[in-house]
Amino acid sequence: MPEFHRTGGGSRRGGGRPGGNRRGRRGGHGARTVTVKRAAPVEREPVGLPAVLSVAELADKLEVSGIEVIRELMKLGIMANLNQQVDYNTAAKVATELGWETFEQGSELASMVADFESRRQEGEQDPDSVARPPVITIMGHVDHGKTKLLDAIRSTHVAEGEAGGITQHIGAYQVETQGRKLTFLDTPGHEAFTAMRARGAQVTDVAVLVVAADDGVMPTTREAVAHIKSANVPMVVAVNKIDLPTANPDRVKQQLSEIGVMPEEWGGDIPFVEVSAREKLGIDDLLEVLLLVADLHELKANPDKPATGVVIEARVDSSRGPVATLLVQSGTLNLRDVAVAGATWGRVKAMFDDHRKRVRKASPSAPVEIMGLVDVPEAGDTFMVFEDERAARTLAEQRQAEHRMEALSTDRPVKLTDLYDQVQEGKTAELRLILKADVMGSLGAISAALLKLNEETDQHVQLAIQYSGTGAITESDINLAVTTQSIVIGFNVRPDAAGRRAADAAGIDVRYYSVIYQLIDEVKQAMTGLLAPVFEDVTDGYAEVRDTFKLPSNDVVAGCYVLDGKVVRNSRARVLRSGTVVFEGGIKSLKRFKDDVREVAAGYECGLGLEGFNDIQVGDQIESYHRQEVARS
Ligand code: GDP
Repeated sequence: MPEFHRTGGGSRRGGGRPGGNRRGRRGGHGARTVTVKRAAPVEREPVGLPAVLSVAELADKLEVSGIEVIRELMKLGIMANLNQQVDYNTAAKVATELGWETFEQGSELASMVADFESRRQEGEQDPDSVARPPVITIMGHVDHGKTKLLDAIRSTHVAEGEAGGITQHIGAYQVETQGRKLTFLDTPGHEAFTAMRARGAQVTDVAVLVVAADDGVMPTTREAVAHIKSANVPMVVAVNKIDLPTANPDRVKQQLSEIGVMPEEWGGDIPFVEVSAREKLGIDDLLEVLLLVADLHELKANPDKPATGVVIEARVDSSRGPVATLLVQSGTLNLRDVAVAGATWGRVKAMFDDHRKRVRKASPSAPVEIMGLVDVPEAGDTFMVFEDERAARTLAEQRQAEHRMEALSTDRPVKLTDLYDQVQEGKTAELRLILKADVMGSLGAISAALLKLNEETDQHVQLAIQYSGTGAITESDINLAVTTQSIVIGFNVRPDAAGRRAADAAGIDVRYYSVIYQLIDEVKQAMTGLLAPVFEDVTDGYAEVRDTFKLPSNDVVAGCYVLDGKVVRNSRARVLRSGTVVFEGGIKSLKRFKDDVREVAAGYECGLGLEGFNDIQVGDQIESYHRQEVARS
């Protein structure tokens, strides 16, 4: 196998280091895994097959026509067309039938990746590890001052000589205080945090929860607390805007302690720091507390090995091509390193720090912007440096194939009906729920009734409410559902467009109810394994009301713009106002200009009338849907 060698620095990574044996293992590339072996009628070289490939690709490799492969697949009970993806095991069976010996390509890569992953996790146990800066995310309710706080920290603590040097943000930055560094992620709010977690990346070492002292705990504050707790990340509360005469920090402490965030001074374990992002007060105290928390958790990494880490942000720059901000988590990233990031790879052609200064090296917890990847990875993807360019490319290609496979796979995360199988097998299952409702009152009633089921029903299934809150089902609720493997329940609320897209993409089971006893009943049935799927609402699309017109008949017609999917006449509609359902009923009329039409697609405007509802308002969202019977599992 032609090994690629780095220009320079090779000896640092080569033999002698514990990592040296990796090379040995990979050197065994020729010793392939022969998984299926039968007497082959024709003497030929074994054929290497990737983890997934299309029927057409398989036919090509086996030097037969696509029809022949399809025929073999049919013998195995698989109906496939030429574009269908098959996995290695299936492909190998077909190959064997056609007289080939096979080996799985990339299995040596799998062991390399496993090796990297274990090294990534080794972290603190690695005897060569040294202290690294903490990585901090700022979360909290909108307008509580997250952005202002990030700016205040940045402007007061950029390293000597760098002041004023930061104009453009790269998604993360480092500051220095008391001769020590701290890394801040520059996308405040928990969307980024949860999106990363949903992709399996744990980036944050400490979370700062910002709460405005004049406003107190708000819905997003509670949501952020749920996310931080479920991620098991240490928390520091920054009580902001203490410069305001209306500031009431004690009320914030009171409110947070009620939701399980107990201040240290009240005997709890959460440090609270009072700050004013606007007046730049308390910033030093906050940083000091963050360093103390970091010390407590002994954050370490070994800088002396090939880098691994996480993609913070990535985009295509019209003149520079794919550009990605990486956060190095262990090892050191060097200019000209070859790295795999998610399903793409490339050689680091240029590297910039958070001041846009060219650098040649990035050590643990440092954010850097790099050029040289062949494609754009996704935020939350992990990256790792490879010594072997060919291996990097193969791994990236293999991951792309896996992504295609995943997209095709019907395997979905938890479904309410899955519980049935688990219970049938006599296993104890936990049914995790995320609960969203229109008002606090119903939320409380529903939670209480649900939790009572734990005592009532037979003990095979236990119910756990991961998070409950009011308002529309958002993307971050879905992300939390992905990481906690929960089912989302909406009571009189619906997902917003982004939430719907995320739920569809992740295959999260989202259920809607408008009658409490029905909700409780269905959950109870699921818990006792008797769930009978009946009808399901299938969303056709979303439109936004941009104008309203009163007809001579006094009926009101909404001038709408279709945002997503399509709107269909004679189907059903829900009118959503700030995520709450204000009307549910039929779509009476649908027009483009003066003409009646059957449906209107995304990107077009239309006039829409609802059956028996005239209180339509500009800014309302209209969800067009139809009912569909669901097969009983
Ligand atoms: P974010 O939505 O959480 O990122 O909040 P911003 O940082 O955008 O701040 C929201 C508003 O609060 C802005 O008008 C800020 O100027 C103001 N603000 C932020 N921090 C403070 C503070 O410490 N004191 C006062 N009086 N206003 C603040």
